[in-house]
Amino acid sequence: MQAPSVGGVMLPRGNGETIRLSRGASLTDFAEKINANPASLVAVMMNLGEMVTATQSVSDETLLLLAGEMNYTVQIVSPEEEDRELLESFDLEFGEDEGSEEDLVVRPPVVTVMGHVDHGKTRLLDAIRKTNVIAGEAGGITQHIGAYQVATQVNGDDRAITFIDTPGHEAFTAMRARGAKSTDIAILVVAANDGVMPQTVEALNHAKAAEVPIVVAVNKIDVEGADPTKVRGQLTEYGLVAEEYGGDTMFVDISAKQGLHIDSLLEAVILTADAALDLRANPNQDAQGISIESRLDRGRGAVATVLVQRGTLRVGDTMVVGDAYGRVRAMLDDNGNNVAEAGPSTPVQVLGLTNVPGAGDNFIVVEEDRTARQIAEKRAARERNAAFAKRTRRVSLEDLDKVLKAGEVQQLNLIIKGDASGSVEALESSLLQLDVGEEVDIRVLHRGVGAVTESDIDLAMGSDAIVIGFNVRAAGRAAQMAEREGVDVRYYSVIYQAIEEIEAALKGMLKPEFEEVELGTAEIREVFKSSKLGNIAGVLIRSGEVRRNTKARLIRDGKVVAENLTIEGLRRFKDDVTEIREGFEGGINLGNFNDIKVDDVIATYEMREKPRV
Ligand code: GDP
Repeated sequence: MQAPSVGGVMLPRGNGETIRLSRGASLTDFAEKINANPASLVAVMMNLGEMVTATQSVSDETLLLLAGEMNYTVQIVSPEEEDRELLESFDLEFGEDEGSEEDLVVRPPVVTVMGHVDHGKTRLLDAIRKTNVIAGEAGGITQHIGAYQVATQVNGDDRAITFIDTPGHEAFTAMRARGAKSTDIAILVVAANDGVMPQTVEALNHAKAAEVPIVVAVNKIDVEGADPTKVRGQLTEYGLVAEEYGGDTMFVDISAKQGLHIDSLLEAVILTADAALDLRANPNQDAQGISIESRLDRGRGAVATVLVQRGTLRVGDTMVVGDAYGRVRAMLDDNGNNVAEAGPSTPVQVLGLTNVPGAGDNFIVVEEDRTARQIAEKRAARERNAAFAKRTRRVSLEDLDKVLKAGEVQQLNLIIKGDASGSVEALESSLLQLDVGEEVDIRVLHRGVGAVTESDIDLAMGSDAIVIGFNVRAAGRAAQMAEREGVDVRYYSVIYQAIEEIEAALKGMLKPEFEEVELGTAEIREVFKSSKLGNIAGVLIRSGEVRRNTKARLIRDGKVVAENLTIEGLRRFKDDVTEIREGFEGGINLGNFNDIKVDDVIATYEMREKPRV
């Protein structure tokens, strides 16, 4: 078969066969799969109008374009799929309990509290924790580790419930977006004096999309004007019908402030779990679960809170969490006590990891340290590739035209570094939700826990990104490097401040909008005819001032009769002037426009840039 060519370059040519490439692959990866010379693929891309080096990661579009050109079918493998295959290659699987039915035992439900801002989520999480600290722990210093477990009695049985204590659905959504399922039941908090609000609806939609049953906590019943019945009515419209009205959603009236009916709420959670879910796990296997939040501690290194989902995690186990790994040196529960093991649905802080995993990363215990390291390294490499792939400009032939018509879609690239994965994820999801119109896109190229490093600045340079440091600073030479290369690094310690500033920056990127501002009006008292200039209006300035060279319109009997005129000449007595103020008389020449009459009004205006609000 004769090799076809593009612009004189010989193309390797396929027969439509399918090749699999991971997201962020390079031309070298591609060439390897089809036994071609990477340089020939570089040449093909050049002919297609894109400059790409052989080892650089390229976008999905580029891979597809190239494959199409050479008659291959490309299948781009998603990160989730790839991760599954990675674990498989070590004979591991995440997400399924080992053994058979008999190996499964009941585990506590894991609960997330959601609802509109100020409806009492934080207060409720505090109240639950205070009233139901597991017996014997009272007096201990409770720590915020991202989750805690409480005990309650239902029908005479001791039951436990695990709460994720970052309130709000941001964390929930961020985790779900990464395919992590952390929550079994959602408590939807609705303030009885405020009723259903926008974020109430948002939260319940998230819970529904994740197919998570909802228990409604009607809060603030101690407040005057509280109307729990109204809340029930409102929620009916969203498909949450209270049991007492024949539906299957449990509503509990509470006061987080006064600690009223907290036990009934916990009971409702257990009853809902028992009725709607089959929460069981095998405690006798290597532990698996997900990370909830983590941070870098000066003395202790990476400190990660993980939720065990199946199996039992023990001190001394070797685990891999996202791209972090290590042997568990110590474990602490939510009361700060050292524990030796943690079973299903138990949250624990783990010490001993090499670095800080992200919220929602899954963890898996493996036999050998070497396996853990290899998995972590492969994942880290993939992350890096994906980050670099994102930064490459998507300029394919189809796009070229669009890109050249510059400024149609603008994009703000961000790199977010922070002290804890929870805050990084929360900041990211809030930023992605910023609504600044369709012309501007926000893209987070990279996120992570820890200081701003030289590699962050590197990435920012290559992609015109802004670096955000949340409660962290630039490390080592990163600060000088940023300064030298003109990379914008911004530091924040309050999330809303970061959001406000980014929002303002985005508004600055939008094209300016103009509005008309009236400058002055002039009433025509007399019309003079000039052989050289045409008709001249003898006027009295009624308001503001009239300036030469500004825009004007002519108004007759209250109606605009001519638009887009210009004050071409302006005179006071015999002198040319640049402006005449209210109360003074003068002469106006509107250039070629001569259709003026006594009593007409000349109104002048200018276009000013409108500040965005
Ligand atoms: P969040 O934004 O949903 O986390 O709301 P918070 O828990 O921060 O509560 C918002 C405000 O409502 C705080 O001032 C709380 O003290 C108050 N609050 C929360 N629950 C109750 C309650 O049951 N009764 C009353 N009166 N106030 C409450």
